[in-house]
Amino acid sequence: MNWQEKAQRELTGLKLSFKKPMADLTTFKIGGPIDLLVEPNNTEELERILIFCLDNNLPRLIIGSGSNLLVRDGGIRGIGIKLAGEFERWEMKANLISAGTAVSLSKLAKEAAEQGLSGLEFACGIPGTVGGGVYMNAGAYNGEIANVVGRVQAVQGKRGVCWFDKKDLKFGYRFSRFQQETDLVITRVEFTLEQAPVELTSSKVNELTCLRQSKQPLEAPSAGSVFRRPEGYYVGPLIEAAGLKGFKIGGAQVSLKHAGFIVNSGGATARDVLSLITHIQKVIKAKNGVDLVPEIRVVGEE
Ligand SMILES: Cc1cc2nc3c(=O)[nH]c(=O)nc-3n(C[C@H](O)[C@H](O)[C@H](O)COP(=O)(O)OP(=O)(O)OC[C@H]3O[C@@H](n4cnc5c(N)ncnc54)[C@H](O)[C@@H]3O)c2cc1C
Repeated sequence: MNWQEKAQRELTGLKLSFKKPMADLTTFKIGGPIDLLVEPNNTEELERILIFCLDNNLPRLIIGSGSNLLVRDGGIRGIGIKLAGEFERWEMKANLISAGTAVSLSKLAKEAAEQGLSGLEFACGIPGTVGGGVYMNAGAYNGEIANVVGRVQAVQGKRGVCWFDKKDLKFGYRFSRFQQETDLVITRVEFTLEQAPVELTSSKVNELTCLRQSKQPLEAPSAGSVFRRPEGYYVGPLIEAAGLKGFKIGGAQVSLKHAGFIVNSGGATARDVLSLITHIQKVIKAKNGVDLVPEIRVVGEE
């Protein structure tokens, strides 16, 4: 019996999708199929999947909104886990929010602002999940997740549920301990916000939404900023000054609106995007002596 047949027998009651195209699960709309996608609704179901992966020596990938993922054209071997059900719920008590990992970060930020809670406004346009936000320490407009997280709950293989205080999360620029310890799955995040007048929090959200709409190519599929910010530079202006705005390889194009973004202008493959990334890196290194390092996470097989 192969592992797929075993999964059908052992993971009963769970939503299983074989050969699911990753293009359907990423904001880039790019990527070959994953062998099996499973969508657990609660911690017990998640633990069953993690134990199945361990027992069968299978690689697995947690998929949030897929807004920071570039999946190669050959797809992903093993199991993809997309958390659903109870992981999509959240609650608010005074200035504390406890959110399941699959809650939309932008929806949560807007809802908090409407309730007169301040601190998450910066995230109102970040199209990821709460879990993906913690994993990446997502940030924008002088804010970042690390500033508002209190505690994080995670599940670790056969060891079950554990909690981490903020001081133990090793937050840095677009970094958290979860990037090092890949056996940890973030399941819940507690945020501590500050009470503030609703007019202030709501107008901040409106201001940042307008700013984002005017500066970013939100109408085209992308994974946001492609590169990490190098010390002393802004990536967009650097790429624009090198004459690369609008430059295209296959269906992958340096955005005409924001040169720090690569957009899928239609039918782009991961190979197109990766070739464009390499081209940009070479040009910027030659022109400015700067090494551009991708912020997006590249996964899967060629
Ligand atoms: C238009 C656009 C604008 C963007 N703007 C910003 C911005 O302003 N600031 C910013 O920081 N980012 C931005 N991004 C990038 C992206 O939205 C963030 O990095 C976001 O935090 C990724 O969350 P996600 O749920 O989509 O994660 P995914 O892309 O699904 O996954 C990213 C990584 O996190 C891991 N992961 C996800 N969930 C979990 C979990 N529960 N447990 C363990 N690991 C997990 C995945 O395995 C993967 O390695 C933008 C993207 C787009 C498309």
